[in-house]
Amino acid sequence: MSEQKLDQLRQKVDEINLQLIELLNERGKVVQEIGKEKIKHGINRFDPEREREVLNMVADYNKGPFETSTMQHMFKTIFQASLELQEDDHRKALLVSRKMKAENTIVNVNGEALGSGKQTFIMGPCAVESVDQVRAVAKAMKEQGLKLMRGGAFKPRTSPYDFQGLGLEGLQILRKVADEYGLGVISEILNPNDVEMALEYVDVIQIGARNMQNFDLLRTVGKVNKPVLLKRGLAATIEEFINAAEYIITQGNDQIILCERGIRTYEKATRNTLDISAVPILKKETHLPVIVDVTHSTGRRDLLLPTAKAAIAIGADAVMAEVHPDPAVALSDAAQQMNIPQFNEFMNEMKSFTAKLS
Ligand code: PEP
Ligand code: MN
Repeated sequence: MSEQKLDQLRQKVDEINLQLIELLNERGKVVQEIGKEKIKHGINRFDPEREREVLNMVADYNKGPFETSTMQHMFKTIFQASLELQEDDHRKALLVSRKMKAENTIVNVNGEALGSGKQTFIMGPCAVESVDQVRAVAKAMKEQGLKLMRGGAFKPRTSPYDFQGLGLEGLQILRKVADEYGLGVISEILNPNDVEMALEYVDVIQIGARNMQNFDLLRTVGKVNKPVLLKRGLAATIEEFINAAEYIITQGNDQIILCERGIRTYEKATRNTLDISAVPILKKETHLPVIVDVTHSTGRRDLLLPTAKAAIAIGADAVMAEVHPDPAVALSDAAQQMNIPQFNEFMNEMKSFTAKLS
């Protein structure tokens, strides 16, 4: 074969390659259209029957020189690539994603606008133990100008022998004391059957880390007209966390606050490992407010202030921490709650830190 002939054939192959690129991308675009229709109608992306039809078509029309099995193999690769295209679009199409809504969702609770850019603090005892205990914390919070009080009435405890919380009585105490001091109430609900009852007492329903994938609970709080504070699961990836929020928003409730609270790693110096980079990732990928719980992520009182500074500096909408008038006798999380003077010192430090940043 002459050199010239070889060049000519190669040129022909290149022309076909260019056509193939164009045709494959054209095919990709049509597949994306199909994907969008499927999203609209809630149809599964993977459709084995449709694949079978196309493979049969390849067998019917293939005239060689490629073996039919080889041609089918190539089409399988095209199917896979197309499915990935659709999956990408599906991810971008999540209702909680920035792609679906560019502007921040602002969750307004008791005069605080989470997601507005104004950073704030959510404080309160780990568990509600008594009126006096909650009152002491509420009074200190009020004096610091805070508006959102957390407190557990239903406590998800590792051991069934540990204090499980006061239940309904705890919610009643929270509401009563919060009203005395003009505070909003955030409290965890463990059971879908308790959601309706809780609406009367709380301003924000908390879904705890252990329930991040309790899909019944997520769907239930998705149907109510109350903000939801969703905590990241103990060992949940960011993608799983975002999908948990998606379960809520698909039911109609977009008032969702995401809370990074540390994840389980091999590290034992802290109770969990605070995944600080989750904050900008979640802010970038979703339109929801993102807060950081420094108490449960560190499990160490001495780390509350530095991690709170990190959270504020990295753009968290709020920092959450636990306060108890006498942590040594607290019925839960005794090691990491702040007492009132420590809380005041923490708030004063944070206020001057925030002032320096701006
Ligand atoms: C809490 O905030 O009271 C709590 C139990 O935290 P987590 O669900 O993050 O462990
Ligand atoms: Mn706690």
